[in-house]
Amino acid sequence: MGSIGNSDVSSFKLPKIKFTKLFINGEFVDAVSGNTFETIDPRTGEVITRVAEGGKEDIDLAVKAARDAFDKGAWPRMSGFERGRIMMKYADLIDENIEELAALDAIDAGKLFSWGKALDIPQCSQLLRYYAGAADKIHGETLKMSRDLQAYTLREPIGVVGHIIPWNFPSMMFFMKVSPSLAAGCTMIVKPAEQTPLSALFYAHLAKQAGIPDGVINVVTGFGPKAGAALSSHMDVDKISFTGSTDVGRLVMQAAAQSNLKVVSLELGGKSPVIIFDDADVDMAADLALLGIVYNKGEICVAGSRVYVQEGIYDKFVQKVAEKAKAWVVGDPFDPLSQQGPQVDKNQFEKILSYIEHGKREGATLLTGGKACGEKGYYIEPTIFTDAKEDMLIVKDEIFGPVMSLMKFKTIGEAIEKANSSKYGLAAGIVTNNLNTANTVSRSIRAGVIWVNCYFAFDRDCPYGGYKMSGFGRDMGLHALEKYLHTKAVVTPIYNSPW
Ligand code: NAD
Repeated sequence: MGSIGNSDVSSFKLPKIKFTKLFINGEFVDAVSGNTFETIDPRTGEVITRVAEGGKEDIDLAVKAARDAFDKGAWPRMSGFERGRIMMKYADLIDENIEELAALDAIDAGKLFSWGKALDIPQCSQLLRYYAGAADKIHGETLKMSRDLQAYTLREPIGVVGHIIPWNFPSMMFFMKVSPSLAAGCTMIVKPAEQTPLSALFYAHLAKQAGIPDGVINVVTGFGPKAGAALSSHMDVDKISFTGSTDVGRLVMQAAAQSNLKVVSLELGGKSPVIIFDDADVDMAADLALLGIVYNKGEICVAGSRVYVQEGIYDKFVQKVAEKAKAWVVGDPFDPLSQQGPQVDKNQFEKILSYIEHGKREGATLLTGGKACGEKGYYIEPTIFTDAKEDMLIVKDEIFGPVMSLMKFKTIGEAIEKANSSKYGLAAGIVTNNLNTANTVSRSIRAGVIWVNCYFAFDRDCPYGGYKMSGFGRDMGLHALEKYLHTKAVVTPIYNSPW
């Protein structure tokens, strides 16, 4: 069983909550209805504060602000170089506020404060700088066409974008969406997840400080079925960039189809396989597989939740991974010793525990964990099942928690077939020292990213996204910039040219 860390964290100064209102047209405002909702600290289950609850009328106001900023404002019309300069300033402001931002995500989402400071928040400013550097390199092409015609293409911003984001990486998700769309010259409305509204509002404040014109970034906090649905069915939104569950992704596409046929990109759920071959270093493979399921408490779309181990090293691997899981420290996200914080909220906590119960009833064998830990809050032990089978719910469904299913395989063909036997196709891990095995499996797996002898190896320059029901469209890399651009062809005749 993972243990609860004991260090005294009571002396840590929790962040003062400064922003709780909607951010529309450069101002913090109450919701038109005056409604607010609670945001909860998953370490205790207690209320942190109340936040404005945006609904359809607030989405209408935010879309109008973004529309005006797009149709008449400076942002899409200024040079890419100037947009990039302002984005660089935005990035600097994030760096100046790293501790406060990491603390906001720790109390709102249960994310480790130390990892937030070292990884999540710095990656936000890096994303901004990466796309700032691309803002003045958005080029079209020149086409000779037939003898008496020539054309050039213009890459134009797609327009008003609605970004609907989940709660598991409140900061990084914000900037994975906002940074490329800013570089492209779009204006936008961000709808953060209702579980984690706090850091997004802080980012709205920093956008204003950086000099991003009013109306370019609007943030409407609120619930999915109201604010999210109003955004995805809005007639004046040109594109929705959605990250979240497959079920809600389907609703977003329906709303787009039934309204103005806005462009949609979907980053959805996953049930990613990690395949470990006999020639692997067992210790390294066990570290990698464990991290694959406990990082961010398993609340990550690319979690390696199905682990296939070749029969020759299976028993040794089971022993190693169990030892490591038992030593994994679950505890307060502000405790520097903690390796895993609480699940984001009570719903998620109960959903994970019910999957664990289901796994036991389905006949899988509990190797480690299997229950909640701590006296309060939503902490769950790293949980590993052996003897799992493809038709079990714990192997088919995305649990989105620290629950791994371990399975044995004999041949490379069997591993590929099992890995592909999922409706999802987001990521996969391969652990082997055989280059040919790595290349063969990489080509055979239907997933958007394959990690060989590594896992969660994200980089702002490397695109990722889904195959199958994990969605379509890519975040990160220059591929993400493409999502926010239209291509326009301008064709002119050439008279009497000998060429
Ligand atoms: P979710 O689908 O419940 O919510 C995501 C967002 O959609 C939230 O902002 C929510 O308010 C909004 N929403 C809910 N109902 C809506 C509706 N009817 N119309 C419009 N918007 C609506 O997902 P979640 O629980 O916040 O996040 C977990 C899911 O996100 C998991 O399935 C996970 O795999 C997925 N995810 C995917 C990626 C990726 O890049 N592929 C990354 C992170 C998370």
